[in-house]
Amino acid sequence: MENITRNVKNIIKEIPDNVILEIAAKTRSADEIKTAIDAGAKIIGENYLQESENVYKKLGKIVPWHFIGHLQKNKINRVISIFDMIETVDSFKLAQEIDKRCKKNNKVMEVLIEVNSGREENKFGIIPENVITEIEKISKLVNIKIKGLMTMGPFSGNPEDARPYFKITKILFDEIKNINIHNVEMKYLSMGMTNSYKIAIEEGANIVRIGTLIFGERI
Ligand SMILES: *Cc1c(COP(=O)(O)O)cnc(C)c1O
Repeated sequence: MENITRNVKNIIKEIPDNVILEIAAKTRSADEIKTAIDAGAKIIGENYLQESENVYKKLGKIVPWHFIGHLQKNKINRVISIFDMIETVDSFKLAQEIDKRCKKNNKVMEVLIEVNSGREENKFGIIPENVITEIEKISKLVNIKIKGLMTMGPFSGNPEDARPYFKITKILFDEIKNINIHNVEMKYLSMGMTNSYKIAIEEGANIVRIGTLIFGERI
């Protein structure tokens, strides 16, 4: 646990003040997550609903919770009862479903649009050339509020390889900001993980999602 505290403090010391540290909490225990939050991490990012519910029962809403996994339609109701933001909205259809359920529950859900910046066939996310059209459609849904973009980028051992994909996403982010779509605020750019967060910050990320560097390798 002291390692977790030290790792979080080191990361916070190193990143600029405007960059928010989100922990990628998958597979980690409630105690580990709590330790990282106590050390100063600002957001809990979770990929799996079941796991989140177990942790949530123990910790409650100590900080905002962001959903960062692939969201299936049949899980939306449970996701919106725990999470404050869904970072992985990757289609108009999914957005419509979230909107419908939020309406019933009298909620407005903040979302990020997931960009498939590497145009990879086996990855989720909207390919860059379709992002603006999809955002224009999603922006009409009144129980959803678009707050920015998220991307993973192709996996590579070399963090420099991620740079072009972060650049593409930042260009889109600025472009969308400039065209000023009603009900859309380009505030958060969530990109960068353990091996790539430094590059992501150089390219304009203001949320970084970090797991391994805080907690160690997942087993
Ligand atoms: C696991 C995960 C991360 C963090 O990965 P690390 O390499 O462990 O830092 C970030 N984003 C998402 C969506 C993840 O699933």
